[in-house]
Amino acid sequence: MKCPVCGGAELIHDARDLPHSYRDETTLIPAVAGDWCPACGDCVLDAADGARVSAAMLEFKKLVIAGTVDRKSGRRPLRKFGHKN
Ligand SMILES: [Zn+2]
Repeated sequence: MKCPVCGGAELIHDARDLPHSYRDETTLIPAVAGDWCPACGDCVLDAADGARVSAAMLEFKKLVIAGTVDRKSGRRPLRKFGHKN
């Protein structure tokens, strides 16, 4: 199947980590199954993983809003107020 986004390449079925950004924060949604475009990097998700990815994006958005993002990766949450060096 040709990429529906750029039409430039055949899609490759694979499971990859999908980067996702909200505001200034970026996360990786692990092992997303779908058809990946080697030309533009876009992905047509498998039906089963579409729901999982949507849920992960929603969850990440909540974490960003709550300021508790990235506990898993060990990065400290952003501290915009009261930061001391
Ligand atoms: Zn493409």
